[in-house]
Amino acid sequence: MRLLSILCGVLLLASPASAQRSAQRVLLIGLDGFRADYLDRPAAVQLRALAARGVRAERMIPTFPSKTFPNHYSIVTGLFPEHHGIVANAMRDSVLGLFRLSDRAAVQTSAWWGGEPIWVTAERQGRRAATYFWPGSEAAIGGVRPSWWYPYDGDRPNAERERQVLEWLALPADSAPGFIALYFSDTDDAGHRHGPAAPQVDSAIARVDSAVGRLVAGIARLGLSDQVNIIIVADHGMAAVAPERTIVLDDHLDPTTVEIVDLNPVAMITPRDGDVSRVMRALQGAHPRLQVYRRETIPARYRFRSHPRITPIVAIADDGWSIVARGARSREVAVGSVRGGAHGYDPQLASMGALFIAAGPGIAQGRTISAFQNIHIYPLMAELMRLQPAPTDGALDSVRTILRTRGASSP
Ligand code: AMP
Ligand code: ZN
Ligand code: ZN
Repeated sequence: MRLLSILCGVLLLASPASAQRSAQRVLLIGLDGFRADYLDRPAAVQLRALAARGVRAERMIPTFPSKTFPNHYSIVTGLFPEHHGIVANAMRDSVLGLFRLSDRAAVQTSAWWGGEPIWVTAERQGRRAATYFWPGSEAAIGGVRPSWWYPYDGDRPNAERERQVLEWLALPADSAPGFIALYFSDTDDAGHRHGPAAPQVDSAIARVDSAVGRLVAGIARLGLSDQVNIIIVADHGMAAVAPERTIVLDDHLDPTTVEIVDLNPVAMITPRDGDVSRVMRALQGAHPRLQVYRRETIPARYRFRSHPRITPIVAIADDGWSIVARGARSREVAVGSVRGGAHGYDPQLASMGALFIAAGPGIAQGRTISAFQNIHIYPLMAELMRLQPAPTDGALDSVRTILRTRGASSP
């Protein structure tokens, strides 16, 4: 009895900080293709205001390839694509067949998705999760889906997404989600179509900026500013491309002898007859702006070797270059049609740098941190929600400076 009362005393003493921590929630907002330096463009008013009372990174470094699905999924699992298995937006698996973003059956098949996304970690540990679009959220990964989720519909108005998120946040504390993910595609769409420097990108920045502003105001109106940590991330940046910077793959290789599941700016190539040396001889040195690797020799820093969905040959275009094919059906990779912007390149390039902003009760105030890799976001989110993280490639210690130190005052 005495021991029990001592224990209770200890728990009570510990409670103010831990109770405050345990009540914290995370709203993760993904702004597709929001390059790190867009934050300094005039339209990013609300985003800069949020960063000023929280943390911003000079840039966040994506995983390779710097594409939408691999990176959104690295952010929520803390794993490199070679460990989570989403190695491209388009890929082939020897058992599952082909995967494409637009293939609802594929994106909803859990066997594609390795690792443990943060919403599964949350649900397994008794906190509910909600996603308004996020790659992976439509599949029952490890048998678990978020308590609330939607099949992807790129035409769903942003205002409807905002309204739903605020409705989730307003639920009674015992049923409200502790983790919410929300996705907007505006900046990626504009960047592809018009290039990163275009005024249309400024309009897209303005649209997502005002969405974030309304969400921040909505959270304040609900009286939840001291509970909700907002983390705003991009999956990758955007590089300007041009017709004079194209590499025509079939000038160097007979396309009928290989399968190319994904082409631009990272070509994933499987020789149909298994003769890797033949294709390597054809492609190596074929173009000074094309880096061609056997899977086993892909530079270690790409962390892109071990997963069987990685093809035997991977060819990567230099910054701002495009790989096109004469026989391509898709407009973006047809010869002569290259324009606007692209991504997928070496994650270390400044052009691929992604946005990172965080603000809230668990986040340091007024701090700019240097570049860091997106695999560290998962352990950061787990810490904020007081969840036991699954094993990952990321480490909380790499991003501890993002956290508010105990005792620091609220905004
Ligand atoms: P990309 O620029 O090719 O890497 O991919 C961006 C595109 O992915 C966007 O235009 C979105 O329409 C699409 N997208 C984003 N999230 C999803 C999702 N959860 N399911 C299917 N497509 C998506
Ligand atoms: Zn993207
Ligand atoms: Zn894109």
